[in-house]
Amino acid sequence: KAKTDGKGTFRRFEPALDARMQARRGLEADLRRAIVVQEFELYYQPLVDARTGRINAAEALVRWRHPDRGLVSPAEFIPLAEETGLIGPLGQWVLRTACVQAAQWPVHIRVAVNLSPAQFRDVRLADTVKAALAASGLSANRLELEITEGVLLADEERTLATLTRLRAAGVGISMDDFGTGYSSLSYLRRFPFDKIKVDQSFVRQLPSDPESAAIVRAIITMGTCLGMSITVEGVETAEQFAFTTGEGCDQVQGYHVSRPLPLGEFLSFVDAREAA
Ligand code: C2E
Ligand code: MG
Ligand code: MG
Ligand code: MG
Repeated sequence: KAKTDGKGTFRRFEPALDARMQARRGLEADLRRAIVVQEFELYYQPLVDARTGRINAAEALVRWRHPDRGLVSPAEFIPLAEETGLIGPLGQWVLRTACVQAAQWPVHIRVAVNLSPAQFRDVRLADTVKAALAASGLSANRLELEITEGVLLADEERTLATLTRLRAAGVGISMDDFGTGYSSLSYLRRFPFDKIKVDQSFVRQLPSDPESAAIVRAIITMGTCLGMSITVEGVETAEQFAFTTGEGCDQVQGYHVSRPLPLGEFLSFVDAREAA
């Protein structure tokens, strides 16, 4: 059985294989139960317009408020949810909740929702998204869906058809963690994303590391030439903020602006920032 380490994440033991299998089965049952009783919460991380410094979007990031383990991070349960098919109902909850909550925000603030590759394998995805918009009253142009390259690896025709339908409905499509996959560039040619999110790994050593600086600069130039908006993720310092905005990116996300916040704190943060 996993224990809390105080930060609300699992401490991994190094048990024998079948003990590990058992732990996994336990976690799966626990996850199934948590979906039924809705033990999840959405945190929101503000994204700012690089030119004006105003918050113009927030990314919804799911957390599991576990009765014994505290706040569990998605890295601990999204992979298992994907393997077991539980990502279907969990992803549906995330999408609906994010739309309902964002419908109450100031209208210039959009919401970004992460989708797993498994959600894309469901041919009903575009209908599911449209239903979530209709039920919440959120307009389609205030919703962005973030996908990773993994989405495009499987069943490319079907995926492109789904993306095209979502785009036609007015929803924005972003490529998340750009630069970490095997064929990022060929995907950009096959599907016109609205936005590229430059992966945090390229930002970590900015601005001192010349290779990182060159890569970030090149991605910004390339994306801009392709007519895509560029967000830089994982901006933690004032120096990184100055570098990336100076290079002409469109939007910045990272601890330098804010960590992901519970809904109430997010809204207070928006208010305080607008007042300043
Ligand atoms: P992501 O979509 O790339 O989200 C960004 C992650 O980076 C978040 O971690 C965020 O808290 C973290 N982050 C943001 N700014 C900084 C920074 O300045 N420095 C550092 N070191 N980290 C920063 P989080 O919330 O733990 O989420 C991890 C991943 O889990 C997400 O990566 C996303 O792939 C996945 N995820 C989260 N929520 C959902 C969801 O509702 N559905 C699906 N399918 N996946 C989700
Ligand atoms: Mg994301
Ligand atoms: Mg990312
Ligand atoms: Mg990521």
